[in-house]
Amino acid sequence: MPTEDDHKLGLDRPVTRRDFLNGVAVTSAAALACPHLAWAAAADPVSRTPAGYPPALTGMRGSGYPRAYQTGHSLRDGNYWPQAPVAIDTSETYDLIVVGGGISGLTAAYLYQKRHGRDKTVLVLDNHDDFGGHAKRNQYTFGETLRLSSAGTFDLAAGRTPVQREVLADLGIDIPALTQKNVNTGFYSSLGMGQGVFFDKETFGADKLMKSPLPWTDFTYMYTPNPPSDAEAMWQQFLKDAPLSEAAKKDLYRLYHDRKDYLPHLSYDEKLAKLDTMSYEDFLLRVVDCDPMVCAFLRDKTFGDGRGIGSTPALLAHTRFGLPGFDGMALELEPVAEEAVYHFPDGNATVARLLVRKLIPAALPGHTMEDSILAHVDYAALDRTGQSCRIRLSSTAVKAVNLTIGGKTRGVEVEYSRDGILYKTTAAHCVMACWNFVIPYLCPEMPAEQKEALAYNVHTPNLWLNVWLRNWKPFHKAGINFINAPNGYYSQIILEHPITVGGYKHSQSPDEPIVLSMLRGYVRPGLDIKEQFRLGRMEMYNTTFEEFEREARSQLGRALGPYGFDPAEDIVGITVNRWGHGYSYWYSALYDEFLKTGGEPPHLRARVPFGNITIANTDAAGICGTGLAIDMAARAVDELTFS
Ligand SMILES: Cc1cc2nc3c(=O)[nH]c(=O)nc-3n(C[C@H](O)[C@H](O)[C@H](O)COP(=O)(O)OP(=O)(O)OC[C@H]3O[C@@H](n4cnc5c(N)ncnc54)[C@H](O)[C@@H]3O)c2cc1C
Repeated sequence: MPTEDDHKLGLDRPVTRRDFLNGVAVTSAAALACPHLAWAAAADPVSRTPAGYPPALTGMRGSGYPRAYQTGHSLRDGNYWPQAPVAIDTSETYDLIVVGGGISGLTAAYLYQKRHGRDKTVLVLDNHDDFGGHAKRNQYTFGETLRLSSAGTFDLAAGRTPVQREVLADLGIDIPALTQKNVNTGFYSSLGMGQGVFFDKETFGADKLMKSPLPWTDFTYMYTPNPPSDAEAMWQQFLKDAPLSEAAKKDLYRLYHDRKDYLPHLSYDEKLAKLDTMSYEDFLLRVVDCDPMVCAFLRDKTFGDGRGIGSTPALLAHTRFGLPGFDGMALELEPVAEEAVYHFPDGNATVARLLVRKLIPAALPGHTMEDSILAHVDYAALDRTGQSCRIRLSSTAVKAVNLTIGGKTRGVEVEYSRDGILYKTTAAHCVMACWNFVIPYLCPEMPAEQKEALAYNVHTPNLWLNVWLRNWKPFHKAGINFINAPNGYYSQIILEHPITVGGYKHSQSPDEPIVLSMLRGYVRPGLDIKEQFRLGRMEMYNTTFEEFEREARSQLGRALGPYGFDPAEDIVGITVNRWGHGYSYWYSALYDEFLKTGGEPPHLRARVPFGNITIANTDAAGICGTGLAIDMAARAVDELTFS
């Protein structure tokens, strides 16, 4: 029974937000039996989007729906094999099987064919109903207006290595040119909009949305003047009105303005070592002697790397996030190379879509990067008999075994589960472009030491929620297009990036529909980082769609209600991208002993070829990134041996 609050928030409205309620599709039985035909059969009455077209599905998405994760989780829990059906032999045989259809897996398939011949046969298996891995698209159609967003990864840097540049060039992606041509950098500032902060009453004693005087340090938003031209006036306003204690205000101001050496007694090298082995939070509290409320205020500023300030080395907080407190220390660090970074309207899903077009031209009509943006994927074309590359979705690999004849490995047999049925197929080679920690379950015969090194990589849980709004007039009225909500349920609230490309136009005026992204970080201060990730993932998977929705509606209503936002009227759809296994693990002197002892990084031991199986995926680089996913794919393809 909806309460009065539910009614005000719009939780009782019939909007398109629940195609995948708690991860279970609300579609017909026929659609479930034949998901790739389902979209043709029915159209969503509100969004006019073909129901069942993966990027257009709302509700629980990302990798957080049972069809994507159930088999993998039962494999992990030891429940899969005792109940596994007998494997059906597909009688197919390929030159290469790639496990994982993210950027790395698609690149491996592409480079394999490019290097060895377009007629070489490749099967790509992925457990999701869409390709791209973390690089997936979300979309929503308001009448005639299409809005796009990334479901996960969005920043694309110009290629740093020859193979990255080769692949981007092959796909027709020229980052510096795109950045110059397609990004309307001054769009929001020309409307008087900029960065804001939402103080909540639970943490700060009052609900208050304000303009923020802080320089832009947040990872999510770069297309804006930095620092704001009227920063000092904004600081004075902020100091007057922010619901922070006087001590916290004073400390914040000095933190951002003083050029003091807080570690004068240490030599230069000692300073670096100290800042690398203490968290930014400790630095603020114990070295700069800030009021604890300063830490509450800055808590989420490092969420871009999936960790809170209590789990991020002070040095990294400075070098990567530009956080304050270091200006007086004369740290002559290598300047971060200036490089063009671009966001496609659907993030790096465009890269995945272009790779798919290279592999299976019929799946994505058109010929240029520009015409790909509005092109519709024909999912039925991904896995047709007779084509040299086939992408088989909703298929979880459960085993990969080197076949041995006469003491020599001769190919690989891969078993995968699709809709509860177990299949087996063979190939000359296999590239594992899935996550490192999955591989030991798939390759039981691997040496124990390699399995241990693979399992070292525990991913960060990331939540990326897209809210489809009828208009953004309240944001315009508040003069804010990006909100940091320290300690809020969602910590970053971002209006879409102002990018126009290939016939796609970003929302042009506050009266028009728009997509708003809301991000949540999962931190458990004080615990080991991997334990934080495990608990965060558990929390994420135990949160229902309704809870995510309620929090989003309530937070937006509280922040923007005074500017006319009505959660019940203004929100027309919600897509919750749960990435239980999000960012790859990155090393830090706060947690990784081998950095102190000088041991070999686990990812190097983890990615050693195993017979005819080689290992791609960004995990194999020991940190995540689109470029690295490409590098690792190239390495894995190069490592395949031919006898
Ligand atoms: C929310 C989020 C935001 C990000 N933002 C950025 C960004 O802005 N810029 C950037 O460069 N990077 C970003 N990243 C990092 C991103 O992980 C990498 O850039 C890159 O997309 C990783 O590609 P991949 O192919 O290596 O892995 P993935 O994209 O994870 O693909 C691996 C695929 O293998 C599948 N798989 C796993 N096990 C199996 C199995 N047993 N059988 C079949 N399939 C399996 C997985 O489900 C997945 O689809 C972000 C990541 C997340 C989660």
